[in-house]
Amino acid sequence: MQHLLETAESTLQELEAMKTRGYGTLTNHERCSFCDGTLLGNQFYLFPCAHGFHTVCLLREAHKTLPIGQLPVLKSVEESLKLLTMKVKDLDTRARSQQEALQQELDGFIGADCPLCGYAMINLIGKSLISNEEMAKDAFKWSF
Ligand SMILES: [Zn+2]
Ligand SMILES: [Zn+2]
Repeated sequence: MQHLLETAESTLQELEAMKTRGYGTLTNHERCSFCDGTLLGNQFYLFPCAHGFHTVCLLREAHKTLPIGQLPVLKSVEESLKLLTMKVKDLDTRARSQQEALQQELDGFIGADCPLCGYAMINLIGKSLISNEEMAKDAFKWSF
């Protein structure tokens, strides 16, 4: 049982790590699933399903799919982030943490789910791992 639990946990950790690692890292020859351009050298998101997208492509898509009420919010986050990034060289600590907060807000809009695979990839995987574990527990009980 302990072993199964550890496996489930480390798989989830791995997924989380993939999520964080994917953002902004220059890795391989992955291509953007929207425009088929190479991800290398651009700001991009890589989802646990291995779909990768340019940040700009995700934003373009978000503009099309976001509920009308949320669009102005996204646009103002984008705008503030752009302004901050433009003067990135002389950012003080406060501006830097402001930039991070904005970036996180942006992540919430475009980095939460893979637009091709639908919603809550990680949650779905997590659930199936737990139910396997439940099944194993039952099997264990039955063996007595
Ligand atoms: Zn693209
Ligand atoms: Zn995907």
